[in-house]
Amino acid sequence: NARRGGGNRYCYYTPELQASAQSRQALAAGLREAIEKEQFEMMYQPIVSLATGEVHKAEALLRWRHPTRGLLEPAEFIPYAEASGMIVRIGDWAFRQAARQAGEWRERIGDGMQVTVNASSAQLRPGIEPSRGWLGFMRELGLAPEAMAIEVKESALQQDANERLRQLREEGMQLLLDDFGTGLSSLSKLTAGGLDYVKIDRTFVSRVEEEGSELALCEAIIAAAHRLGLKVVAEGVETRVQCALLTDAGCDYAQGYLFSPPVPAPELEELARARMLH
Ligand code: C2E
Ligand code: MG
Ligand code: MG
Ligand code: MG
Repeated sequence: NARRGGGNRYCYYTPELQASAQSRQALAAGLREAIEKEQFEMMYQPIVSLATGEVHKAEALLRWRHPTRGLLEPAEFIPYAEASGMIVRIGDWAFRQAARQAGEWRERIGDGMQVTVNASSAQLRPGIEPSRGWLGFMRELGLAPEAMAIEVKESALQQDANERLRQLREEGMQLLLDDFGTGLSSLSKLTAGGLDYVKIDRTFVSRVEEEGSELALCEAIIAAAHRLGLKVVAEGVETRVQCALLTDAGCDYAQGYLFSPPVPAPELEELARARMLH
């Protein structure tokens, strides 16, 4: 019903557009409430050492316990949170929650445990400087900066963000380049320095069984990363064959449904206590 108000005037507000504007508004209001009422939850996915099968790292992955829609995955709200700037407060909550969890695990499981947290580029802009808040929070907790690592995408490794990330890393936090291979000018991001780990994106990992060229690409990334002193994590490992191929290629860590989906903290703790590949 695009035609409204009579005459020949066409209105752009189709029912579909109206619906999506409405749902965007609902999302905005819902997210503001979610921040106030802390409706977020953290799930944790193990990052498994391919050499030993041990779990010393876990990635913190955000969920929104929506009052009516159930547990929402990041794809349903992070893009909007980023576009609206709300990701800064949400991301702060995520970091603090993950840091508390890391502290608990270090006491209960061991000093080697590390939690990685995702950060959007909007959280790293000058003037926002979460680095100060985060480092201060870790000091309050008595948590060593080594207990935490930050995952950023290639797009976040730019001018201003680099300075923030450099500060965090100088204090002892580690830095992972997330979803590697999906952005532009990828290889130069590896050589720019300031990274500890590279995560090979799931899209490459998912094709290593079928496509010799994808495996060759993974091997090249691993070799280049190692020459540059970086460790490599394969994302989205779902089959034993993928795991074997990546292990043979020299990959250091793997993460994916083969080992475990993201789970609540107590389950991650159980997984970390068991040696999963042996
Ligand atoms: P990511 O950082 O690349 O996280 C990996 C995503 O892949 C997670 O989706 C995880 O559940 C999924 N995954 C893990 N293993 C497998 C597998 O074997 N197969 C398949 N098909 N998928 C697998 P999730 O939890 O939905 O998170 C999506 C994205 O949302 C994350 O991608 C990250 O970019 C973003 N995100 C999550 N939590 C936060 C947060 O606290 N802050 C910010 N800024 N972004 C976050
Ligand atoms: Mg990540
Ligand atoms: Mg990723
Ligand atoms: Mg990915």
